Amino acid sequence: MYPQLLAYLLQYIKYQHTIIITLLTVVLGKAVGSVRPDEPVDKPYRKLQIDELPVLEKLEKLSFQDLLDDYFKAHGKSLKPVQRRKNAKSSVPEKLCCPRCSAPSSYLYANNGDKGQFQCKVCGCLFNKQSRYLKEAILKCPHCLKTLEKVKERKDFDVFKCKNNDCSYYQKKLRQMTQAEKKRFKEDPQAFKVRYIYRQFQFDFKPMADASPVQPKVDLSRIYVSSHTLGLILTYHVNYGISARKTAALMRDVHNVHISHQSVLNYMNSVALTVKPFVDNFPYELSDQFCGDETYIRVNGRWHYIFFFFDAAKKVILSYRTSPNRDTFSAIRALDDMFRKMKTIPENLNIVVDGNPIYLLAQQFFAQHDIHFDVTRVIGLTNEDPVSTEYRPLKQIIERLNRTFKGNYRATHGFGSEDGSVSHVTLFVAYFNFLRPHSSLEGRVPVIVPELKEMPHMPARWTKLIELSQQWLTENAS
Ligand SMILES: [Zn+2]
Ligand SMILES: [Zn+2]
Repeated sequence: MYPQLLAYLLQYIKYQHTIIITLLTVVLGKAVGSVRPDEPVDKPYRKLQIDELPVLEKLEKLSFQDLLDDYFKAHGKSLKPVQRRKNAKSSVPEKLCCPRCSAPSSYLYANNGDKGQFQCKVCGCLFNKQSRYLKEAILKCPHCLKTLEKVKERKDFDVFKCKNNDCSYYQKKLRQMTQAEKKRFKEDPQAFKVRYIYRQFQFDFKPMADASPVQPKVDLSRIYVSSHTLGLILTYHVNYGISARKTAALMRDVHNVHISHQSVLNYMNSVALTVKPFVDNFPYELSDQFCGDETYIRVNGRWHYIFFFFDAAKKVILSYRTSPNRDTFSAIRALDDMFRKMKTIPENLNIVVDGNPIYLLAQQFFAQHDIHFDVTRVIGLTNEDPVSTEYRPLKQIIERLNRTFKGNYRATHGFGSEDGSVSHVTLFVAYFNFLRPHSSLEGRVPVIVPELKEMPHMPARWTKLIELSQQWLTENAS
């Protein structure tokens, strides 16, 4: 009768339903209805506002050798190291050097006893352990160019803050507050983030450092099945996601091969160790479009995260790190796995990720190490957001990858150990990059290796992939 009215009312009911679900979620603190208890609850990550990078002012560096030469020319004699009282234990650590001119510890005075202030005899620089970094470079607020103050020291990072009341960032935040917010701010200033903040990471980790290739200790000759049978097992278990138990049953019922499901798992572990160096060191041809996401995997009854990063155009998985935590350090390691596979870091490198702030923190960490890239965060899939429209295909690729992996993983019923999960993910990546035809690549596999292409069927391709991996190991054995 009134189709428009009906449509409107239906819309209204849907809208109310959304509100009810949202409110229930807020009240109960977890998602309701759609999530089965067995599924991992997509825990919201900590909302964190990440400010842009500070202005880094490198101080003029002096050379103590030059300064000592100048001294010699001016005075006709050389500047002597600091005279220390005999037998008195020096409170200047032997490894300490001047942050400004790099003079060794023999030229440093312990300026005020044991309190930790030092002075350089060569250049006169005064410093202590805390200000050491500041003497090497000064961090300044990008909004007002005032020097940032270190306000907190955490395990992995230091927090720097702009305390300038005239800072445009601070002024703007105050102006944007509603009357109610202003009132609350007066009572509880800690509840608002009104000042520019920068976290400086201290992870003991050097990006893009050459990792010595791990030589796996596997003897594939101890696998007591023919290579064709091994290829069959891999095809069933990895390509089709059939559980180890069912794969063993299939081998027995269909192929008359008697192996236990534990043997299947052991074989998978050995093959994963063999192909991992090949997968990780393959000279991939890459584009400049990359994206990443986290998915879940169950290890020892606990949900772990897999950080996938991949080339969105070439459909190549470049990073597949598993971690019990969804934290910044895991994101950094995952990104580093990807960077190592690039011959050089592209000029306009852009990485598309979800809204999780850990990627912005990771971006700042890499910037500290002079590796620069843009991060585009795609939150949700609504078409109203222009960024989302542009990057929607990428997001869909990520989701498809997650679905593929979940479908593949479900049959394995979680893993008894970290090693088991790593094996499974490694084999999945080998399959995804080298063996799996991709519909958006017109049925091609992402990485074409002629030797694999020639093979008549999947078990033979697996056997060939193992052979190529063993060849790689022999050629790169140190
Ligand atoms: Zn000095
Ligand atoms: Zn400022």
